[in-house]
Amino acid sequence: MSAKTHCIADTTIVTCREDEPEVLHHHSILFEDNVITRVAPESEIEHLLDGRSDVERFDGRNHVVIPGLVNTHHHLYQSLTRGLQCVQNAELFDWLTELYTRWRHLSHETVKLAAQVSIAELLLSGCTTTSDHFYIFPQDSDVRVESVLEAASSLGMRIHVCRGSMSVGKSKGGLPPDDCVQDEKVIMRDCARAIDAFHDPSPMAMVRVDLAPCSPFSISTELLRETAAFARDRSVLLHTHAAETADEEQYCLERFGKRPIDYLADCDWLGSDVYLAHCVHLSDGDIRKLAKTQTGVSHCPCSNMRLGSGIPAIPELLRQGVRVGLGVDGSSSNDGGHLLAEARQALLLQRVTGGATAMRTADAFRIASVGGADLLGRQTLGRVAPGYAADLALYRTDDVALAGAVAQDPLAALMLCHVGRADRVYVNGRIVVDDGHLTMLDERKLAFDLNQAVGKLFR
Ligand SMILES: [Zn+2]
Repeated sequence: MSAKTHCIADTTIVTCREDEPEVLHHHSILFEDNVITRVAPESEIEHLLDGRSDVERFDGRNHVVIPGLVNTHHHLYQSLTRGLQCVQNAELFDWLTELYTRWRHLSHETVKLAAQVSIAELLLSGCTTTSDHFYIFPQDSDVRVESVLEAASSLGMRIHVCRGSMSVGKSKGGLPPDDCVQDEKVIMRDCARAIDAFHDPSPMAMVRVDLAPCSPFSISTELLRETAAFARDRSVLLHTHAAETADEEQYCLERFGKRPIDYLADCDWLGSDVYLAHCVHLSDGDIRKLAKTQTGVSHCPCSNMRLGSGIPAIPELLRQGVRVGLGVDGSSSNDGGHLLAEARQALLLQRVTGGATAMRTADAFRIASVGGADLLGRQTLGRVAPGYAADLALYRTDDVALAGAVAQDPLAALMLCHVGRADRVYVNGRIVVDDGHLTMLDERKLAFDLNQAVGKLFR
C-alpha cells in the first residue's frame, strides 16, 4: 500500500530554524504517513501537486501551525489528586507526605483513567509528546508502566514513560510510607522488563522507556549508581527531580554532606543522557557543571510557583549553554496541563525579577518545542521541517483570544496571549484533535469517570 500524502495548504508556520524561531507566511506542509516531506511556499506545492487526486488537503488559511510541543516532565496519574484541599497551600515535603497517604491506594484502572485525562489536556493544548515520571508502585497494587502506556495509546500520544523508583521509606529516614516503596531487586527487574517490552529506539518511536528514581534521595546510593550504569548499558535516558526546594538542599546536606547536584555528580548522574526536573536551587558551580556535562533541565514554572519552591535562573542557564526543556509537572502541583500556557508562564516568571528583557518569546517557544525534543534525545521532533515527524498543532487565527496579535506577530500571539485549545493536532501523522475535540475518546466521559473515581477513592 502506498503512503498517504497530506497537505496543510497555504498556512502560517512558526518553527525554529536552528535555535531561533521564524515565521513562514503562505506556506504549505506536505507529509507522507508520519513524516514531513516538504515545507515550501504555497504556489510551489500547488505546482507540485497539480493533477494529483490522492492528496488529503486541509485548507490552512485560517490557522497558524507549530510543531507539536514536547512536555519533558509530568506525573500523569496526579489528576486524581489535583486541587486537593489539604495540600492547596502546602510546600513540597508536606505536600508529598500528605499525598503519599492517598497515592498508596492507586490501582491500574485509576492510574490509567487519570493519565488519560492528563494526556487529553496536553493534546488539546498542542502538546504531542510527553515524558511521564511514574514512580509510585504501592505494594499489593496492580499498577505498572502499562497503566500509563495504555492511556497514551488510547489517545494517540507519543510518550517517554520513565520507570520511576522509590526504595527508601519512612523507616529508613525517607519521606514515603514503607508500603509505597519497593525492594531494590524488584525495581531493577521491572526496569529491565519495561525496557525489553516497550522501549523503541527507532527515530519515530511512539514509546520510549527512561529510568527515573523519584529523587536522588528516594533510593540508595548503590541503586542510584546501578540505575545509571544499567541505563547506559541499555542506551536509555535517565531522569529525576533535582534541586527543587531549599528543604531538599538541606536534606541532602544532612544525609550525604553534599548539595543535590554534587551528589548526582558523585553517582555518575550528570551527562547528555540525563534530564533533571526543576533545578531551582543551583549554585554558580552547579550551573557550570550542568553546562559542561550537557545535562538537561526540565523547567516547570507553574509547579515552582504553586509550591512556592522558588524561581530557577533559566536565562542564566540558557546563557551558559545548559540544555533546557519545558514541563508542566504533575497535575497535583500544576493543576493545569496546558503546555503553551506553561511557555507563557516561563516567560512571565522570569520577568518578575529579571525585567522585561529576561526572557523573550523566542526563548519560551524554543524550550517548549525543539528544546524539549533535544532533552528527550529526539532529533526528529520539535520542528516543522522535512524529515521531522508529522506532529503538528494548528490554532485558529480567527479566535478572539489571538485576534490582533496573530495578524502582526504570530509567535507573540502564541506566547503572550491566553491561548485556549488547539483546533487540530496531528501526532505521527494521525489526527488526534479535530475541531478542538479529541478524536479517539469522549472527553466528557473521561472527565465524568475521573470525577466518579476521585469520589470513590477519597470517600
Ligand atoms: Zn515532578
